[in-house]
Amino acid sequence: MDEIIRAVTADGFIQISAVSTRALTERARQIHTTLPVATAALGRTLAATSMIGHTLKDPKASVTIRINGGGPLGSIMAVADYEGNVRGYVQNPHVDLPRKPNGKLDVGSAVGNNGMLTVIRDLNMKEPYVGSTQLVSGEIAEDFTAYFYKSEQVPTACALGVLVDTDQSVLASGGYIVQLLPGAPEALLDTLEENIEETGAVTSVLAGGSAEDLVLRILKGFEPRILERRQIEYKCYCTRKRVLQVLMSLDECELEDMESKGEPVEVTCQFCDVVYHVEPSEIRKNRRNYQEKPLKKPIK
Ligand SMILES: [Zn+2]
Repeated sequence: MDEIIRAVTADGFIQISAVSTRALTERARQIHTTLPVATAALGRTLAATSMIGHTLKDPKASVTIRINGGGPLGSIMAVADYEGNVRGYVQNPHVDLPRKPNGKLDVGSAVGNNGMLTVIRDLNMKEPYVGSTQLVSGEIAEDFTAYFYKSEQVPTACALGVLVDTDQSVLASGGYIVQLLPGAPEALLDTLEENIEETGAVTSVLAGGSAEDLVLRILKGFEPRILERRQIEYKCYCTRKRVLQVLMSLDECELEDMESKGEPVEVTCQFCDVVYHVEPSEIRKNRRNYQEKPLKKPIK
């Protein structure tokens, strides 16, 4: 069972989110048939996106993360709702790279570090809040750490990990984001850094433990107060209506082409691979609807 936990220390100086995401990362692997390095890159991104999504307040709000480092995986996209449920995909899921000399998956080389990490918070208001930073290493956790520090000015430590089994399934996955809040004495940092060091790889904790174990280890010596804990899952919100909307945004010639072929059009959701079959008559009907509702023109 995947879960997210949010906690704060009793003195109010440190906040932490932690997730265990084995099941949802495995779900993503099965949907997209990702090979190990892609599974790791997407899994790390999904874990971070879930934690950022969970900080949103509005039930209609969402966060979208886009990572494009110029590496062979292409771009990675992940979206979370305000509860921390996520969905995502990687452009080239079948990329395979040799492991690093230490046996770890070479996520940095697969993602690349020549590009941007972009965070789009759609707060259900007029304009989304968009922030971005240059990628540091393409290893993703480091890139999120840099993002929080540079773009949002919050001292942050982020750790993410995905452990892939010999049969390519996901053994453990998750991570944490720990942040210092304004006014935190610098001495706290030393203890925190020691704890981070001692905790080591998140997957070694998560393989036999939980997100709460991560929180307790990172906040060792502090008094953690759990603020919230909830189950999370891989969740796509695609609907036939949305698929039709996207289809109708294609240009007139393409739509006309689809209509005239007289065959159902297959539209696949990029996030969950559900295939929608749209009949030519449906395209015709929707085109008419759109034409009948001309765009509002500004009054001069
Ligand atoms: Zn979908």
